[in-house]
Amino acid sequence: MTPLDRRQFLVGVTAGTSALAVGGMPGMLRARHDAVASGLADPAFRPLPLGAIRPRGWLERQLRIQAAGLSGHLDEFWPDVAESQWFGGSAEGWERAPYWMDGAIALAWVLDDEGLKAKVAEHVDQIVRRQRPDGTYGPMAAASGGRPYDLWAILLANKMLAQYHEATGDARTLAAVEASLRSLQRSVARTPLFDWGKYRWFEGLIPIFHVYERTGDAWLLDLARTLREQGTDYAAIYAGDDITAPTPRRGRWTWDKHVVNTAMAPKAAALSWRLDQRPADRAFPARMLEILDRYHGQVTGMFSGDECLAGKNPVQGTELCSVVEFLYSLEILSSVFGDPSFGDRLERVAFNALPATFKPDMWAHQYDQQVNQVQCTINPDHMWSTNGPESNLYGLEPNYGCCTSNMHQGWPKLAAHLWMATADGGLAAVAYAPSEAKFTSRGVPVTVELETDYPFRETLTLTVSPERAASFPLLLRVPAWADGATVQVGGATPVTMAPGTFHRLERDWRGRTTVTLRFPMRSRVTVRYNDALAVERGPLVYSLRVEEEWTRVNADKPHRELPHGDFEVRPGSAWNYGLVLDPDAPDADLTFEERPVGERPFSPEGAGMRARVNGRRLPEWKMAHGWASETPPGLQSSGEPLEELTLIPYGCTNIRVTEFPRLRQ
Ligand SMILES: [Zn+2]
Repeated sequence: MTPLDRRQFLVGVTAGTSALAVGGMPGMLRARHDAVASGLADPAFRPLPLGAIRPRGWLERQLRIQAAGLSGHLDEFWPDVAESQWFGGSAEGWERAPYWMDGAIALAWVLDDEGLKAKVAEHVDQIVRRQRPDGTYGPMAAASGGRPYDLWAILLANKMLAQYHEATGDARTLAAVEASLRSLQRSVARTPLFDWGKYRWFEGLIPIFHVYERTGDAWLLDLARTLREQGTDYAAIYAGDDITAPTPRRGRWTWDKHVVNTAMAPKAAALSWRLDQRPADRAFPARMLEILDRYHGQVTGMFSGDECLAGKNPVQGTELCSVVEFLYSLEILSSVFGDPSFGDRLERVAFNALPATFKPDMWAHQYDQQVNQVQCTINPDHMWSTNGPESNLYGLEPNYGCCTSNMHQGWPKLAAHLWMATADGGLAAVAYAPSEAKFTSRGVPVTVELETDYPFRETLTLTVSPERAASFPLLLRVPAWADGATVQVGGATPVTMAPGTFHRLERDWRGRTTVTLRFPMRSRVTVRYNDALAVERGPLVYSLRVEEEWTRVNADKPHRELPHGDFEVRPGSAWNYGLVLDPDAPDADLTFEERPVGERPFSPEGAGMRARVNGRRLPEWKMAHGWASETPPGLQSSGEPLEELTLIPYGCTNIRVTEFPRLRQ
């Protein structure tokens, strides 16, 4: 393409997209599918444009809680965003403002929240207006005190701005990203990526591909390959033994075992695969997850890292940044490879680890969550690998402010990736939550609504409404745990679907068609660290409901005025129970009961399910170092009375026991 052609192409895309800002979603999707992409393999599924999927039901309530909490207000009072050097201030000038904006953009457009959109637009304008003639933007030299600037923040800012362009069609933003990538190309030719930029090189491929799919300029793919050459090779790290060893408590911080790098990295191979379809790139993510599960896996679908990989002990921590980054990695993996197992994992992390680590009003969060977390206090006696005493406090910026700025992307990006477009004009259900998706199938606008209280219920009702008759497939992810799953179209006989697959439902759709999915949820008990038992059902993990005593702390610290204060949580009831539970036949010992899903779906009071199980206290299982001590290994005996215990979904708890010692019957 000559520069002139390219300019015309850009203008064409822009005109198309602005028309649709008025005219609605279908055109936006068409613009994206018309993109020039010959040098890049297509993903199996394409994400719909931001705003094409709207949350409904409990998911909408959750996102509105988030917008009313820290996410919608952080830029009003927290200096590292409010007075960021990115906006001409004098506070932090690296990753924090771009992190917050990356989540706030997704939140604003998923909710169609005009106030938040306007705030975000103003911040984008501040960045784009400050772009220098050489294409650089951001604080750069000023923020790094004359040292070489770690380009991670530029990779992140470009990813964030590409998302803004996706949402708005704003041509000026696309041009700014393109100019920044040109300057990045010159910069890495002089000084190769180092430190964070080196370990997170692949995040740069997201904006590179975004621009490439709209311009077709070959230099962009050269730049992508340069970043890959200069960046960390995770396959080499995971071929060695060092990655399998837990970082010792109060041990040494390393780049290779840094939990956020680890959570971001599974997408590297997927993005790399789009460049040249190397079979090794397709195979690596599953291998990486298998190693993480075996040596550092937690029952929530996460891995420990406080802040480096810390083994399977359920009192080690998992950083919030790693939770939201792992979700985004799983969304990219689902898109590129179309493998349903990534959707299973996405739900497991999103419905358990994500909500658990926030105060239910989303004004406070933890740095580290624990699977067995019975107390969250300022704890100088802690046993994290490299984190500090405030890491499991619920607060504004416990331990360190990265999670304060990065946590916002979790829920809205999940909502934006529930449904994706298939190459043959259909729609794939990658993950399930109440929502409405609009897409265009070969020119026919289609609305798909999903009404459900899943994951708290096992029935999902879809309504498919094309504007006029159309033939296309719905690809329905059948979770691997859902033996006996069925799909029923209208009043027809239900058809069985195979677990662990995408079930293809292809038909001529006309009018409104109801499709009912049923994913039977059976209780499962898994044997984990020190032989402890964990209870699962469907995508949810269940934990002991422990009474909570909240105490406000750090009130004298800056910016801790309510509602964004810091809180300790202590147990107000016993937690040290063993369970009477046969892992091979759990149904006999467990009773599940449906409850209304609350206004706050992920709070102890709002829990939409609960379970009953019998247990006895284990007086020898005590606190140690301010936490629950390690679960006592092997079969336990107790002379304490048998009690009926209440379990609720892990994501609804703030303190909890999740891995329980097993009692002799
Ligand atoms: Zn963090």
